[in-house]
Amino acid sequence: MYLDDYEKIIKTSASARKFLLKFCWKNYQRFCPRCRCRKLYKLSTGKRRCSRCGYTFHDFSRRFINYGQLSPRQWLRFLKLFELEVATDVMSRQLNVSYNTVRKALTVLRLAILAHSLDGPQIISSLSLLSLLKNKPPLNTISPVLGILEKSDQVFVDFLPDLPLETVIHFKLNFHLQTKNIGHIVYSDRYKQYLSLLFYDDGISTQYGLRHKGKSLAIDGNKNFWAFAKPRLKRFKTMNPNRFLLYFKELEFRYNHRNADVLTTLASYLCALIPDDSKAK
Ligand SMILES: [Zn+2]
Repeated sequence: MYLDDYEKIIKTSASARKFLLKFCWKNYQRFCPRCRCRKLYKLSTGKRRCSRCGYTFHDFSRRFINYGQLSPRQWLRFLKLFELEVATDVMSRQLNVSYNTVRKALTVLRLAILAHSLDGPQIISSLSLLSLLKNKPPLNTISPVLGILEKSDQVFVDFLPDLPLETVIHFKLNFHLQTKNIGHIVYSDRYKQYLSLLFYDDGISTQYGLRHKGKSLAIDGNKNFWAFAKPRLKRFKTMNPNRFLLYFKELEFRYNHRNADVLTTLASYLCALIPDDSKAK
C-alpha cells in the first residue's frame, strides 16, 4: 500500500477502525464469534450479546487484534513499520509505546501470520503456541526442526514433527550431515526433498560437541529464499525455539508476498478469528 492511500486510512481514529472492521465482518454483518448466531442484542456499552449463547462481545473479541494493547490507528502504524522492516527499538520510539508493547504486538502479528500458513493450524495446536498471546511461554523448550522447500517462486518452511531434533543430531554424528550456523540458528545441507533443515541451538551443540563448519552446502548457493533470508537472519536476535519458529514463518510470508500488498494482507490476518479459541477473551 502506497503512503498516499495509507494516509487516508489512518487520517482519523474512525477511519482506521472502519478499515479494520471490514476485515472482521463481511459487509459489516455481525455474528456471534462463539456460536455464529446472527441474532444479537446491542447493549448500551456498544457491545453485543448473542441471543442464543449469551456471549457478550465487541468487534475485536476472539481476534488476534484484541491482544497487544494498541488502538486501531496504532496497529496500522505498527503494520506499516513492520512492512518496512523497521527495527523493534525504532518502532518503539516512532509509535511512542514501550519496547515490550512492540514486542508483544510482534508476537501477536507473527502468530496471526503463522495461523495463515499452510501448516500453521497444526503447528499452533501441537505446540500450544496460543499461550504466547497471554504472555505465557509454551511448555516445549526443545527446538522444532524446520525444512526449507522451494517450489517455483514460493518457499515453504515446513514444520517437521516426525523429525525430532535428536534424529538430526544422529544424522550429523553418524552420517556426516553438514551444518553451518548463524548465531543460534543451525542449518544443514540438503536432506531428502528439503534444501536444508533448520533448528535452534539452545546448547545442544555444546552438549554433543557438535561443530557447524560445513563447506559448500547446497543452500549456500541458493539465490532465492536463502539469499533473501540470510541478511535478515544476521540481524535477528533469536531468544528461544518459539521465536525462531515464528520468525521463520514471518520470513516465509515476506518472501511469498514480496510482490503483494503486505499491509492489507497483514490487516486481514490480524482481524481473523483465533483458531481453537475456546479460552480466548
Ligand atoms: Zn452465540
